[in-house]
Amino acid sequence: MTRVDREAGKSAVIAGGGIAGVAAAVALAERGVTVTIAERESFLGGRAGAWIERLPDGEPFEMERGFHAFFRQYYNLRALLRRVDPFLSRLAAVADYPILGPDGAAESFADLPTAPPWNVAALVKRTPSLRLADLPKVDKRAVLAMLAYDPERTYARWGNTSARAYLDALRFPPRARRMLFDVFAHSFFNPEAEMSAGELLMMFHFYFIGNREGLVFDVATRPFFTAFWDPLRRYLERRGARIVLGREVRAVSARGGAWRVDTDGGAIDADAVVLATHVPGLQRIVDASPDLGDAAWRRDVASLSVTRPFAVWRLWLDRPTRAGRAPFAGTTGLGALDNISLYHLIEDESRAFADRHGGAVVELHAYAVSDPVDDEALRSDLLAGLHALYPETRGARVLHERFLVHRDCPAFPPGEDHNRPGVSAPVPGVALAGDFVSLPFPSALMERAAASGFLAAHRAMGHMLPGDVAPERIPSVPPRGILARRRRGPIRPAGG
Ligand SMILES: Cc1cc2nc3c(=O)[nH]c(=O)nc-3n(C[C@H](O)[C@H](O)[C@H](O)COP(=O)(O)OP(=O)(O)OC[C@H]3O[C@@H](n4cnc5c(N)ncnc54)[C@H](O)[C@@H]3O)c2cc1C
Repeated sequence: MTRVDREAGKSAVIAGGGIAGVAAAVALAERGVTVTIAERESFLGGRAGAWIERLPDGEPFEMERGFHAFFRQYYNLRALLRRVDPFLSRLAAVADYPILGPDGAAESFADLPTAPPWNVAALVKRTPSLRLADLPKVDKRAVLAMLAYDPERTYARWGNTSARAYLDALRFPPRARRMLFDVFAHSFFNPEAEMSAGELLMMFHFYFIGNREGLVFDVATRPFFTAFWDPLRRYLERRGARIVLGREVRAVSARGGAWRVDTDGGAIDADAVVLATHVPGLQRIVDASPDLGDAAWRRDVASLSVTRPFAVWRLWLDRPTRAGRAPFAGTTGLGALDNISLYHLIEDESRAFADRHGGAVVELHAYAVSDPVDDEALRSDLLAGLHALYPETRGARVLHERFLVHRDCPAFPPGEDHNRPGVSAPVPGVALAGDFVSLPFPSALMERAAASGFLAAHRAMGHMLPGDVAPERIPSVPPRGILARRRRGPIRPAGG
């Protein structure tokens, strides 16, 4: 790859060291730009971050912000991880991820064809939640909207409708609705009633209808600090990047064709800035930075919001779970419980703990929890769900636990899709990245963070680099559904 001569002195500051910020940093550092990442926390990775703690007996372990599924169509995230793990040997496929209901009912995603629409057709055919007699009652037009995703028409038709209203309109029987759709909708941290149906349909397209890679996913076999963040830090530092942890970016101001980034540890001057914080961080920076953007853009940034809190509870237990349990299971109809991960079946560190103690490492998640969170009530609700589904855990002694409650995932409310800022800011040399930005192709969560980071690197700096410095290739799933009407001319680039 052609690079800029580092002596030529092109520099960039990245605010935020989550997936989006690190992707932007990697793309720029590889092209010879001198990069500084300023990250507010004491660890890299943001919501996918990890840090070292100690068990009561002094044994070190890595705590993470929670279980993460790495889908095969996360092309840009995988390209980022390949920088430090060329064969993705630290990821392994789960054989299945069942959805478990309160009556012991289970839905499985294993052994389905990978190509759409046969994946979905096979799922519908074999699901015990849907009988042939139910099909005539289903609203065909609403179902077709899933197969006809179009970046303009879908948001125009469904962007002001809530995901709940859309899912109700499908008229699936309650059990099918619960098993097939509720878990999926909840996986984006937003409650159905407060999420845009346009965004939900984009997610259906991205994960099911437009995804040729299959419906099962990979998990990291080692904790994230060891597997990714520490190797990525070293990868960046070898390319001259500076990573400053515990450093908050406060404001950005114009300085004669370049930018001054004020942090709580002093100012840094740079040719370009990528704002890759979460939503509240971005809003604070933009609020304090009158030089950043015009009134309309500032209004769009101000109108972003975070959704309700979520909880992650990791438990180190003194006895094993029953043989044959799935490493990860989505749950529905069990109070606040959204999923159960058995870490001793996923990560080597937890497996070693389970071997040593004859125990188990279990993680319970609850998304879109009511605010303010009643910690005690939530914990007993989660535990009741675990005991109901995995009765062998009822008598287990808790040897150690970590209970995290955060509120930093983006909201996607109805009516706001059109105002969502894209990667480009209206001032040269500044770009946004993160899993909340609007992209010109379907993408979600970690993949949206990685893809937006690569795109932001180019938008912020591309015009300053010599013409022969190639931008990062940014692949995606097909931009439209299989039944979307073909249109003449290019798609209007939403937000990119
Ligand atoms: C419990 C849980 C489970 C999840 N599971 C999945 C999953 O299975 N699959 C999936 O794809 N995604 C999952 N996600 C979502 C995924 O973690 C996010 O989409 C992704 O990590 C977002 O990355 P980001 O870089 O956009 O933002 P963030 O990770 O939020 O990074 C932003 C960074 O900016 C920093 N920051 C904020 N303000 C400032 C400032 N002023 N100055 C400097 N730094 C600042 C923050 O500390 C943070 O590190 C999950 C998230 C959670 C919480």
